[in-house]
Amino acid sequence: MAQTTPNHTMTVSGWAAHDPSGKITPHTFKRRENGMNDVTIKILYCGICHTDIHHVKNEWGITMYPVVPGHEIVGIITRVGNNVTNFKVGDRAGVGCMAATCLKCEYCKDGIENYCDQVQFVYNGIFWDGSITYGGYSEFFVADHRYVVRVPENLPMDAAAPLLCAGITVYAPMKDNNLIESPGKRIGIVGLGGLGHIAVKFGKAFGHHVTIISTSPNKEKEAKERLGADDFILSNNSEEMQAKKRTLDFILDTVSAQHSIGPTLELLKVNGTLVIVGAPEKPIDLPSFPLIFGKRVVKGSMIGSIKETQDMMDVCGKHNITCDIEIVSTDNINEALNRLVKNDVKYRFVLDIAGESSKV
Ligand SMILES: [Zn+2]
Ligand SMILES: [Zn+2]
Repeated sequence: MAQTTPNHTMTVSGWAAHDPSGKITPHTFKRRENGMNDVTIKILYCGICHTDIHHVKNEWGITMYPVVPGHEIVGIITRVGNNVTNFKVGDRAGVGCMAATCLKCEYCKDGIENYCDQVQFVYNGIFWDGSITYGGYSEFFVADHRYVVRVPENLPMDAAAPLLCAGITVYAPMKDNNLIESPGKRIGIVGLGGLGHIAVKFGKAFGHHVTIISTSPNKEKEAKERLGADDFILSNNSEEMQAKKRTLDFILDTVSAQHSIGPTLELLKVNGTLVIVGAPEKPIDLPSFPLIFGKRVVKGSMIGSIKETQDMMDVCGKHNITCDIEIVSTDNINEALNRLVKNDVKYRFVLDIAGESSKV
């Protein structure tokens, strides 16, 4: 196990959950020493993702306790291994969800290693050396350099952190559907939360007409005035839904609560695509008629490759795109997780691991 792996000699302070109560407490643990292919990162900030809640409470039944969550990690590189040529000490670095992949399968070779079936995540995963991975709710991180990206100099580190999961999750399907360099499309975003708000920013930066599709009427003002969305459809109002039939080229569905996608599909033009990135626990209700009568496509997408993640970071640097965040001190992790369960955040919590914000 991790604690007894011979080269795991680096003592790191972090925060972990120890049982399904999900309560987070300070936790000291060991990481591997910086290897030939590794970089060590002094973590400045780590975003809090809904996935962290699923893991600390063992809601998917796969948690190995103690679990140190966190996969939206940004910080400064403090060590580089002998084989590492693309990073140096002092660089601004980011680590997202992936810790390792097989490097040999067709997906790894094609540069879509996020779909490798051996993918191991940065926490609650099993690294190549057999150790359990611990995430970014900690002061230092050791990463294989192949799973590290650089954070552009002009982006604030705290607001850039959630790009590593929330950002890439919405960027990759937009790129996949040719929305990066072909402006003027009409796109819909279902749900205005951590994922949805950043999708609006990408959509506008790429020159599209962006519609928010939501069950909350009070989000219309916010969507249009603060985030710059062009239109808003109240999805539980059937007249509005009917009036907007066949108006959209592409829809990104970010909602993880149970919902029917049949009426949403009707909003797509013929040949339109709906991509699911929210993950409801139960199977999705998918009626066949909207698919057949509109030749529509429904597909999924999971984060992005490291190359795509770096491309996204660079695009964010170019367009000055960051997430809207609320900074949380490490004393208030449990409170933030409780608020996140109730979706009480605009739009992403970011842990101030190094106490940087209190120094300002
Ligand atoms: Zn995440
Ligand atoms: Zn692979």
